[in-house]
Amino acid sequence: MSGPFYRCPELLIAGRWRTGRGDRSHTVVDPATAEPLGELRLASAADLQEALSAAGLAFEAWRQVPAHERCARLERGVARLRAQADEIAALLTAEQGKTLAEARAECLMAADLIKWYAEEARRVHGRVLPARASQSRMDVLRLPVGPVAAFSPWNFPLVLSARKLGGALAAGCSIILKAAEETPASVAAMVACLAEELPEGVLQLVYGVPAEVSKALIESPVIRKVSFTGSVPVGRHLAQMAAGQLKRITLELGGHAPVIVCEDADVASTVAMMVAHKFRNAGQACLAPTRFYVARPLYRDFLEAFKAAADDLRVGPGHDPRSQMGPLANARRLQAVQDLMARSAACGAQVLTRTGNLPSGGFFAAPTLLADIAPDAPAMVEEPFGPIACAMPFDTLDEAIGLANRSDYGLAGYLFTDSARAILAVSQRLEVGSLAINGIGVSVPEAPFGGLKASGWGSESGIEGMEAFLEPRFTHYSVP
Ligand code: NAD
Repeated sequence: MSGPFYRCPELLIAGRWRTGRGDRSHTVVDPATAEPLGELRLASAADLQEALSAAGLAFEAWRQVPAHERCARLERGVARLRAQADEIAALLTAEQGKTLAEARAECLMAADLIKWYAEEARRVHGRVLPARASQSRMDVLRLPVGPVAAFSPWNFPLVLSARKLGGALAAGCSIILKAAEETPASVAAMVACLAEELPEGVLQLVYGVPAEVSKALIESPVIRKVSFTGSVPVGRHLAQMAAGQLKRITLELGGHAPVIVCEDADVASTVAMMVAHKFRNAGQACLAPTRFYVARPLYRDFLEAFKAAADDLRVGPGHDPRSQMGPLANARRLQAVQDLMARSAACGAQVLTRTGNLPSGGFFAAPTLLADIAPDAPAMVEEPFGPIACAMPFDTLDEAIGLANRSDYGLAGYLFTDSARAILAVSQRLEVGSLAINGIGVSVPEAPFGGLKASGWGSESGIEGMEAFLEPRFTHYSVP
């Protein structure tokens, strides 16, 4: 839907929206048609330096703004974001591909996240410790860490940006957000809703050559905290850069979520829930359920029901209200998904997918189940980040937990059972940061979201997400 409503955004630097002055641009593409939507002008080195200076100055002012006022300003921004959800969703669908319903839900989820952080700003209190001497007092304050550099990806551009900027702004930090160049307009529209309520330089948005932007920002003495969501290799690279500068960093690097379906689970309701959750955003979600370990007595019924439900999904352009799954977000992802599927089939996985019946022109892929897959097949090891689910049977719960924990990733996990014994075992032993039992709710604003192992460091959302933008200050007062 390369309609005239789409315009590539400008950058927000030091309170002014303006064109990037770099000599490069990025072509934004409509994933449903593979046609260009517009040219995004990227930041120059001077643009980034200007943003850094503004972030440093703005931090000194913003940290002094009382928490109640920070909260009120953010809440006004959130109200504007909610009011513009339809327009922002249309931009998101055009540049990212997801269905309009998903795009609208994402915009409202971003609003909820920022609202929760805004409210939490009023609860950032310290503590008073018993003094060690008379005529003295000891307290611990929690102070904003300083200007933040944040990097968000293209799969959930609004929610993943909101997780960072909500926490930073509520805590009293200034933030420079480099969102994904592939999905720039939806994030710019969200940033505009918030920036209207903020002093200039507190919230800035840049697009650029990713490696140049991260180097300039992380190496600058102005930046005191880094937050990144994206792939493991890039996360590792940014962590090394941050370590060189001894800067704090939060990393959310994806997942390969296991789903354990025990013998007492109801196949029909489990499959209905999991198919909808798996193929949301065409499977490009770090918390997408992906490795299905199914108790052997249910296994064949599970495969049949899953394939039937996946075949029923209507795949089409995101702007068509009949579509239930949109295209993949870019050509790179389509290629990666096809390659992963072929390599896994070559290792013996049975490919259960529809034949034909996909729209042409864009980056469309069929919802696919790889059945009877070996535990070390490529799709069981590499994050599919697309509409691929894998399934294999298990005989004992110990075996299922062991298989689930083989992955390098440890972000989300799912369990379907009524058994107290199974719930206890899995909740204690599954190596994941979030676990949903008989449901899908692994990520809500008030709970920490973060991963173990290669899935990252630290958490976003919840009080833990707020803490990532704060540092403790112990003060010991004595009367002279
Ligand atoms: P990528 O690693 O090339 O890019 C991921 C994001 O990081 C993009 O937004 C990109 O602009 C940014 N980036 C890349 N190099 C950077 C640098 N040097 N400094 C700062 N930012 C940089 O990955 P991709 O091709 O877009 O996706 C590949 C894989 O990444 C996916 O298959 C998936 O496994 C993972 N991924 C995870 C998430 C998540 O939610 N955790 C999101 C997007 C991608």
